[in-house]
Amino acid sequence: MRFTSTRNPDGPSVSFTEALFRGIAPDGGLYHPVEQPDLRALIRSLGDDASFVDVAGAMIEGLFGEEYDAASARALALRAFPFEPVISELEPGVKLLELYHGPSHAFKDFGAGFLAATMEAELTRRGGETAGGDRAVILTATSGDTGSAVAQAFAGRKNIDVVILYPSGRVSPLQEKQLTTLGGNILALEVQGSFDDCQRMVKEAFADRELTDRMTLTSANSINVGRLIPQSFYYVYAFAQLKDCPEDELVFCVPSGNFGNLTAGVLAWRWGMAVSAFIAATNANDVVPEFLRTGVFAPRRSVATLANAMDVGNPSNFERMQQIFGTDGASVGPMRGLISGTAVSDAQIAAVMRDVYSGTGRLICPHTATGVEAARRYLADETGGNTLVVTLATAHPAKFVEVCRDAVGVEPVVPDNLARLLELPKVSVRVENTREALSRELLSRFA
Ligand SMILES: *Cc1c(COP(=O)(O)O)cnc(C)c1O
Repeated sequence: MRFTSTRNPDGPSVSFTEALFRGIAPDGGLYHPVEQPDLRALIRSLGDDASFVDVAGAMIEGLFGEEYDAASARALALRAFPFEPVISELEPGVKLLELYHGPSHAFKDFGAGFLAATMEAELTRRGGETAGGDRAVILTATSGDTGSAVAQAFAGRKNIDVVILYPSGRVSPLQEKQLTTLGGNILALEVQGSFDDCQRMVKEAFADRELTDRMTLTSANSINVGRLIPQSFYYVYAFAQLKDCPEDELVFCVPSGNFGNLTAGVLAWRWGMAVSAFIAATNANDVVPEFLRTGVFAPRRSVATLANAMDVGNPSNFERMQQIFGTDGASVGPMRGLISGTAVSDAQIAAVMRDVYSGTGRLICPHTATGVEAARRYLADETGGNTLVVTLATAHPAKFVEVCRDAVGVEPVVPDNLARLLELPKVSVRVENTREALSRELLSRFA
């Protein structure tokens, strides 16, 4: 599979490995597959007895057959995913695809796990060739959630150091513990400044020739193809698990912010996973539902909501969605044929969390609640169908204790591994919010 930039689809292409380590294309666009392989036969052949690793291994071989044969594809899947999605029944017509059983308890564990495993495999392979062993330094800024998935996924990986910049005093206590208690190859830099300072410092480091000449700096950004592609695997897994549901009655509902998750589902559809529709569920940051309604894409500043991991006003994966459906102004037609959009207010998010709790005794996180509300609206609009809406449950409610308490009046049970983290001592290195401070830390440790 080759990749080109969304800003120059007919331009020079790069391999998966190159796209993986570069992260973003030199022209600022996102890497996107040039050809869409036809995996219909493969996807149909997967039965409901296939484990997630079975599905992921088959998909890796199907997509990257030139790089991975069946055995190495399976070995990669095993290293990337020491956890599985779970499908559960929520209410008539709605199932949850629970994606929060990984180490950081959010679906980003799937992307981060695959990115870490593929980078480790490639560096180890190169190390074998150059004897000395190739090392890479992953540099990433976080406002909380992404950093913890990346830190957990890369902890203990060979030939990779991870440096995470986070704004001091501005992440939740649990998030801070997720970043600062791993040790080993994970370095937490506590920046005396804001998240924007952290992002600026990372950008400055990538532009600093002294640093890039002396170490292999790379990113683990959410737009990396190494994080995008594996997100298609759980759609195919759910599709295989739900074999009994006729294809024209199966719908996926995706709580969305930056739209990586939805894009991965649409890619699975392009590769041959025949489903009837996707629902793009957003919070009040509704530029994509608005685009589907009006045909006008009007990115703007994000507003803060209860589902804060989806507070995105200018979703970067929209470039990929446009590429899939045709890049001209008329792209809304074909996109509308597959995707329906809907936006959910904070009041509605809280109401659904309460309603689901009183109806089923289950707490769901505010992002998942956005999806459940969208699924209910979709089913209500339908006349006499048998549609099954599989709603992606993107995070464990225990990551959003305050929201659960305020909306439902109940505190979620915190999973053991998160509870244990709260007891561990925090280890971070405090740095000023300047380019020189970061450069000094990196040179003293990795040059
Ligand atoms: C990141 C995130 C989302 C949004 O996913 P996108 O791929 O950015 O659309 C939804 N829910 C949770 C819990 C998240 O962490």
